[in-house]
Amino acid sequence: MPSIEPIGTITTPFKQKFAIPRQPNLANAKGVIQFYDAYANPHAFTGIEQYSHLWVMFHFHATAHRGWKPAVKAPRLGGNAKLGVFASRSTHRPNNIGLSVVKNGGVTVRQGKAVLTVFGVDLLDGTPIVDIKPYVAYADSLPHATDNLDTYGSIPQRPVIFSDTAQEQCAKRQAQLPDLVDLIRAVLSQDPRPAYRHGQINDDKIYKVALYDTDISWQVKSDAIYVLDIARIDQNIGS
Ligand code: SAM
Repeated sequence: MPSIEPIGTITTPFKQKFAIPRQPNLANAKGVIQFYDAYANPHAFTGIEQYSHLWVMFHFHATAHRGWKPAVKAPRLGGNAKLGVFASRSTHRPNNIGLSVVKNGGVTVRQGKAVLTVFGVDLLDGTPIVDIKPYVAYADSLPHATDNLDTYGSIPQRPVIFSDTAQEQCAKRQAQLPDLVDLIRAVLSQDPRPAYRHGQINDDKIYKVALYDTDISWQVKSDAIYVLDIARIDQNIGS
């Protein structure tokens, strides 16, 4: 088999693996795919506007060096029980290929090159993109498909409460990052802590998540997520 070359890279708000949703469409995070010159020809995208959703195939570049494992820990199983890699969506897989269905945000042409916007991504910023295909509902939508994942526990949905300071800091970034508040809510409500901590409804630890150019500090108290502070990675927004 010939080696696979990426066709471009995606820009996303997720600057670190921690807290990226575990599947697409669990947060409406925007991704912008810039294609390498050989693939950026606008003709390669003719007709793409008729699809509401697209499959994005990508390289798990940040974990590829760790190789693959036949048995992997699946977060939905509480973090300890294991599944076979081919019964999971783990990053630690042969060929390190990821596959996400995302909302089609359309193609724009910048300086003669196609740029594709998508929504609902679960990809790290800078992820190499390997291929794009349309989601064809007549074949890909399988209403009778089943899995047993809910029997292992559902994805947490915790209330997210912003401190006064965090609200002010978000307001200052509103013009530049209009989706910041919604993204913080969507990402943190799923409680990105390791699954073994999910039962801990009061947790003294202060966690940090990097979204766009911000470092968000948060804590779990009384079963809710409290957003404490939103600092610019290079400077404090509040200062
Ligand atoms: N939907 C895809 C799939 O099923 O192939 C990805 C599922 S995988 C469980 C999603 C996780 O992959 C994210 O939560 C993030 O931690 C991780 N991830 C995203 N982009 C990555 C990258 N470029 N390299 C390594 N890990 C990545």
